[in-house]
Amino acid sequence: MKKVLISACLLGDKVRYDGQSLFTSSSILKEWIDEGRVISICPEVSSGMSIPRAPAEINGGDGYDVLLSKIAVVENSGNIVTENFLRGANNALALCKANEIDVAVLAEFSPSCGSSSVYSGDFSGTKINGAGVTAALLTNNGIKVFSQHQLNEANKAIKQD
Ligand code: SF4
Repeated sequence: MKKVLISACLLGDKVRYDGQSLFTSSSILKEWIDEGRVISICPEVSSGMSIPRAPAEINGGDGYDVLLSKIAVVENSGNIVTENFLRGANNALALCKANEIDVAVLAEFSPSCGSSSVYSGDFSGTKINGAGVTAALLTNNGIKVFSQHQLNEANKAIKQD
């Protein structure tokens, strides 16, 4: 059975920077869990970051720029955490490869997990189009990444073959 990678916070794990979850109630998610399809990870916690932790944003671009070493991921204190974000992304990719996963549902707007929009880097609440570091690395490796707002599309992608 085809597995799917899910951001741990969407499943109710309190792993976000503020110690909260982003629990997403969905019949599709429940069905995937009941079918035994779900593999979860919090890339940031898997990299060794704490709960709670300082908020971090990609500094003026998106995850693809981070993968190209063009820009950093920075906490609101100015502390650079790019290495953690890259390690977390690689942990997620390794999990996908180990489980032959080619579909992921990741939490939108996160500097790791956002798939179509992330915060701009100035901690003003402004969002820009772009992907987080984990979403960018998975996409670069042929994995279809959806947000929690695209569960129907993700379900089609999982069940199409
Ligand atoms: Fe959720 Fe991803 Fe942030 Fe972890 S890194 S809290 S899984 S959005």
